[in-house]
Amino acid sequence: MTVPTSLVVLGRQGSGKGTQCARLAEHYDIPHISTGDMLRAAAEAGTPMGREAKAFMDRGELLPDEVITGVVAERLAQPDAAERGFLLDGFPRTVGQARALGELAALDLVVDLDVPRELVVERMEARGRADDTPEAIARRLDLYEEQTRPLTRHYEEQGLLVVVDGVGSMDEVERRLVAAIDERRQARSA
Ligand code: AMP
Repeated sequence: MTVPTSLVVLGRQGSGKGTQCARLAEHYDIPHISTGDMLRAAAEAGTPMGREAKAFMDRGELLPDEVITGVVAERLAQPDAAERGFLLDGFPRTVGQARALGELAALDLVVDLDVPRELVVERMEARGRADDTPEAIARRLDLYEEQTRPLTRHYEEQGLLVVVDGVGSMDEVERRLVAAIDERRQARSA
């Protein structure tokens, strides 16, 4: 029987977090819950929440904590997440969201996928997307430092945080992540 596994992955934009989360979700057979993907899908579908989300996303701002927490609460209540666990990607992004998540679910591990700022800037500039102007990149990374970095302290205090070196090939980084997660799962089921 598989042990339900509840994970949060933190990491700067451009850290390879999305790709690694997809791989990990497949590896552990748990739903990959990416709030960015959910919001983009809702915006595309033109739902009321999607239209509200789009305005924030277009400005590069975070949605209010209550709104995004409601979206995540609904998703976590679905049977797949309730039974098998989940991998949260892009949530929580603020300490308020982390507190709200604490009321919704028990976490096994929070992984901080660590890639130095200079390197993610290089990567994002190289991919040359229209929204990747140097100013926009700097703003998103500053926002991450201001609002999301304090989460690492929050989770460290709870004994849930593990920092994984995100520099290397996709396969190498995936192996490091799986090793860190398996270590925690074994400790838990021992
Ligand atoms: P992402 O793809 O994770 O960078 O998310 C894209 C956009 O969706 C962000 O720039 C925010 O506007 C919004 N968003 C995603 N997740 C959250 C969150 N946890 N809290 C607030 N806004 C979010």
